[in-house]
Amino acid sequence: MSIGKRGVPSASGAVPVAEMFYSFQGEGPSLGRRALFVRLMGCNLTCGYPSMPRRAATAAAGQMVCDTSYTWNRADYDLTGGVRHLTPPQIWDEMVRLDPSAECPALAPVGLIVVSGGEPLLHKDAVLYLAAQASATGRSLEIETNATIRPGPELIQASVVFNAGLKLATSAVPRKLRIKEGAIAEIQASGRARWKFVVCGPEDMAEIAELQLEFGLTEIWLSPEGSTPTAVVERMRLVADSALARGWNLSTREHVLIWDGARGR
Ligand code: SF4
Repeated sequence: MSIGKRGVPSASGAVPVAEMFYSFQGEGPSLGRRALFVRLMGCNLTCGYPSMPRRAATAAAGQMVCDTSYTWNRADYDLTGGVRHLTPPQIWDEMVRLDPSAECPALAPVGLIVVSGGEPLLHKDAVLYLAAQASATGRSLEIETNATIRPGPELIQASVVFNAGLKLATSAVPRKLRIKEGAIAEIQASGRARWKFVVCGPEDMAEIAELQLEFGLTEIWLSPEGSTPTAVVERMRLVADSALARGWNLSTREHVLIWDGARGR
């Protein structure tokens, strides 16, 4: 990657993009903030399954099932359908055009960029380019990562925030694939990690506490599993008291409460 104008890295490699949209950040400490989202294709995990399903409609083995499996599950989805291969500058240009202040300067610009997936750190150069553009335009950038891939020094220095979603046994993914010491340590040491755990119920709390202790995780956020408002609220109620007692934060899933988790919202 070379360095172009204003110190912004110039990246030319196209990456597969599932979707871009303008919405609210639905989870975590920035919940409710307006944000511009880009969702990149591909993931190195298979949440809900111990490995990549071989046949369509394979029954999930875990309680926590990926809600964006259209980015990686080739048994259930045509991973080329509707997917566009865009260079990082094309992604950035299209994303900022989604900002309503581009058409209506009286509106405040959207100050938050969210790079999601799949696992966006599979496309590190593209993320680095977007981080540099965000910084150059006074926006902050959050990466929704499963925290299994080391971000590397350039991304750490780019002042991005890591919404680091470590996966639990309920994902059915073998521990050796979902818990990567080196990546966790690097993200924690950045000082900008928010450790996000998707919880199905109180039975997940002991496992989260063990991971917190094992890796010295400093900022814990619980996020309820569920693709309907009823499920989200029920799970929040199940874990709320325990979260307070343990000193952990509890988020909701705003996009599910408002739009039932519809794609691109
Ligand atoms: S890490 Fe995230 S995107 Fe990847 S399979 Fe798990 S839930 Fe889905």
